[in-house]
Amino acid sequence: MKNFALIGNPNSGKTTLFNSLTGSTAHVGNWPGVTVEKKEGVYKKLQEQVNIVDLPGIYSLSPYTPEEVVSRDYILNEKPDCVINIVDATNLERNLYLTTQVLEIDVPVVVALNMSDVVRKNGDKLDTKMLSEKLGVPVVEISALKSENLDELMKEAFKASNNKRQGKSVIEDKDLSHLIKDVEIAFKGKGVENPLFHAVKLVELDEIETKMHEDLLPMVEEFKKTFKNETFGSDFEAVVADARYNYISKNYASAYQANKNDAENDSPRKITKSDKIDKVLTHRIWAIPLFIVIMFFIFHFTFSEDLFFMGAMGLSIEPTNGFNAFLIRTFTGDLSTPTSELEALGGIPSLGVWLQSWMGTLTGSIMDGVSSLFALGGDAVLESWYASLVVDGLLNGLDAVLSFIPQILLLFLFIAILEDSGYMARVAFILDRAFRKFGLSGKAFIPMLTGFGCSVPAIMATRTLEDEKEKNRTIRLMTCFSCGAKAPIWTMLAAVGVLAGFNGGLFVFIIYLAGISMAIVYALFMKLLSKDQYVSPFIMELPAYHMPQARNVLALLWEKLKHYVIKAATIIAASLLVIWFLSNFRWAFWQGLCDIHDSMLADIGRVLGYFFWPLGFSQNQQYGWMYSVATVTGLVAKEDVVATLASLFGMAEGASEAEVGSQLIGISAAGVWSFAFYNLFTFPCFAAISAAHGEQSRKQFWITMAWWFVMSYVAALVIYWVGTLYSVAWWGGLLVTLALVGVVVSAGIVVANRTKRLAQAN
Ligand code: GDP
Ligand code: MG
Repeated sequence: MKNFALIGNPNSGKTTLFNSLTGSTAHVGNWPGVTVEKKEGVYKKLQEQVNIVDLPGIYSLSPYTPEEVVSRDYILNEKPDCVINIVDATNLERNLYLTTQVLEIDVPVVVALNMSDVVRKNGDKLDTKMLSEKLGVPVVEISALKSENLDELMKEAFKASNNKRQGKSVIEDKDLSHLIKDVEIAFKGKGVENPLFHAVKLVELDEIETKMHEDLLPMVEEFKKTFKNETFGSDFEAVVADARYNYISKNYASAYQANKNDAENDSPRKITKSDKIDKVLTHRIWAIPLFIVIMFFIFHFTFSEDLFFMGAMGLSIEPTNGFNAFLIRTFTGDLSTPTSELEALGGIPSLGVWLQSWMGTLTGSIMDGVSSLFALGGDAVLESWYASLVVDGLLNGLDAVLSFIPQILLLFLFIAILEDSGYMARVAFILDRAFRKFGLSGKAFIPMLTGFGCSVPAIMATRTLEDEKEKNRTIRLMTCFSCGAKAPIWTMLAAVGVLAGFNGGLFVFIIYLAGISMAIVYALFMKLLSKDQYVSPFIMELPAYHMPQARNVLALLWEKLKHYVIKAATIIAASLLVIWFLSNFRWAFWQGLCDIHDSMLADIGRVLGYFFWPLGFSQNQQYGWMYSVATVTGLVAKEDVVATLASLFGMAEGASEAEVGSQLIGISAAGVWSFAFYNLFTFPCFAAISAAHGEQSRKQFWITMAWWFVMSYVAALVIYWVGTLYSVAWWGGLLVTLALVGVVVSAGIVVANRTKRLAQAN
C-alpha cells in the first residue's frame, strides 16, 4: 500500500483534510500540540488504497520542537511515496517557508492550497498555475472544510508518487549555493540519502546534523571564514532563512491577487467579522469574566434542576389540575405515579436534567422488565443468588452509569461547539496572559483543556512542553481538571437532597471552578518555591471564527458515546461483578450468601474507613464503608464511583436505583463536599496513572503520586471540617474561610512582588 504524508503549518487544516480523506474522527483542535503523534488512516477512492499519515503541525524542519522532530524523522526515514504539503492560502508567504524546505528532500511533493473557500469569499484570487511552475511540483486548490477538490488532490498525489523526484533548493545567493553544492557532493560521495537536504541543514549548523556528520564540519567552517553577510554575520541559520524569504517574496507576491476593492482602500488588512467578535471576547478585562459566565450557563443548561430560578422566586408547579400534572410528568419522566400522589415541581429542569429523567425512566423500565422475568420463576428464583447478581449487582450499577449519558453528551456538545467555532483557542490565548503571572504558559493550558475530556491524552500532550519543570507541574495539576468520567459523580451528588436548596448546576459549576482555582494556587505555590522564573513562550494562531460544523461536532459526540458505553459494558461491568462477589460473601465464602454488612467488602471498607475518617464521608456506622470502597474502585474508572455506590446502596436497601438516587445515605452535606473534592483531586484512573508513568522520570512520577494523594487528602480534610463548622456556627465557618482566603491572597502578593523584583534585576 502506498503511503502519503500530510505536512504543513499548525492550523493549516491537516487534521480536517485527514478526517475528510479517511473518514476518521481525529480531534481537530485549534492549538499546537493536539497532534503530537502522527495518525494514520486509509483513503479508498483511488484505484488502490492509500495510507494517509497526519503529521504534527510545524513551521520548519529544524529539530527544535518535538513536533518538528516527529515530522522530519517521518519524512526522512519512512520515505512516504508522496508528501502532501498543506498550505494555508490566506497566509501564503509564511506557509511557503516550510514548503521551500520540503522541496529540498528527494521525495514527490504535491502542494495543497487549502482554505480556498476563504480566499474566494474575500474576493481574492490565486494563480495556481504560476505557483506550480515556480515550485516545480503540482499545486491543487482545495477546501478541506468543505471537502472541495479533494479527489483531484489525491489523483495528483497518486500521479506524482509514481515518479522519482530530486530535491531542489531555492537558495539563489551564489556563494551560499556554491557551498551547499560542495557539501552536497561530499554527502553524495558518502552515499547519504537526501544529500541536498542534509547539506543545507549542515550549513545551518542544525543540531542533529552537526552531531551526525562531524567529519564534514571543517569544510563548512573553512568556507565560512570567507563568507560575509552584512546583516546576519556568521549566523548561518538566519542567512539561509533570509535567502528563503527573499525567494518567496520575490516570486510569490504575485500569485496572490488581493481583491481590488481592498487595494483601493489601501488598508493593510481589512477588519473582518472575526476581529469584531474578538474585540469583545478577548477584551483585556472582560475576557475572563465572560468566559466564566459562558461556562456557568453551560453547566446551568446541563445540570440545573431549576432553569428559571423559580425556587428563588418561591414558585412551583403543583399537580392541582390535569395540565400541571401533564407538565410534571413531561419534565420528570414519571409515568407511573397516580396524579393525586405526584410531587410538586420546584422548577423547570434544564435540558440535561430533563433528558436524564427520561433516560432514567427508560433504564428503570428495562430493569423492572428483567426483575419481572425473574419473578416469573417465583420467589425462589427472585431470591436466588443469580437474580441478585444480575439485578442488584450488575443492573443497579450500570443503570446508574448509563442514565448520565444525556447530560454528559450535552456537556460535550456545548464544549465541542465552543471548540469548533474557534472560541476555545481564544480561551487559551486569554488564559496565557493570566497564567504567565503564575509561572505557567498558555501552552500548558492546552493539555489542561484536553484534561476536561480525558486525562490520558492530556497527560500525553504535555510532551509538547519543552520545559521539564512546566511539564511535571502540568501533569500534577491534571486531576484539577474534572475529566468526563467524573461528571457522573458530580451529577449524582448534585441530584441528592442533602444539598437542599442548592442548585444542581451551581454545585457542578463550583466543583469545576474550584478545580481550576486549585490549579492556580498550586502553580503559584510552585512559583514561590522555584528560583527560575522563566516561562516558555507561547505562539499560537487564532483561526477565524466559523460556524461549528455538524460533522465535526457529531463525530466528537459519537466518539464520546462509544467510549462511554464500551467502558460501561467492559471495565465497569467487570468491576461490578467483583464488587457483587465481595459484598455478598464472608471471608469464608463457602458458607453461602450473607448480609452485605457482614461481607468481605464491608470489612475492607471499614479498614479503609479509618483512613478516610478525618475526611468525614466514611464516618457513618452503617454506610460509611461504601464511600471508602467507591473511592478505591474509582481508580479502575471514575464512573465506577457512581456504579459502586448505586450497586451497594441498591443491595443494602433492597431499593431500586430510582429510590436511592433521590438521597445519598448516611452522609452530611459537608461530607458530600469532602467526598466530591477528594474524588476530584485524588489519583486519576489507572490508565491516566500509567500515562504519567510513561511521561515522567521515575522520581518525578513518585512525586506526582505523592502530590495527588496529599492534595486530595488535605483539600477534603479542610473542606469537611470547615463545612462542619458552618453547620455548627456559621460565623465560625465564615471566619475560617476568610482566614484561608487571606493566606492565599497574601501568598499571591508575595509572588507578585518577587516577580517584579526579579524582572527589575534582569
Ligand atoms: P491542523 O492544525 O493543521 O491540523 O488544522 P486543523 O485541521 O485543526 O484546522 C484548523 C482550523 O482551520 C479549524 O478551525 C478548521 O475548521 C479550519 N479549516 C481547515 N480547513 C479549512 C478550510 O478549507 N476552510 C476554512 N474556512 N477553514 C478550514
Ligand atoms: Mg491537527
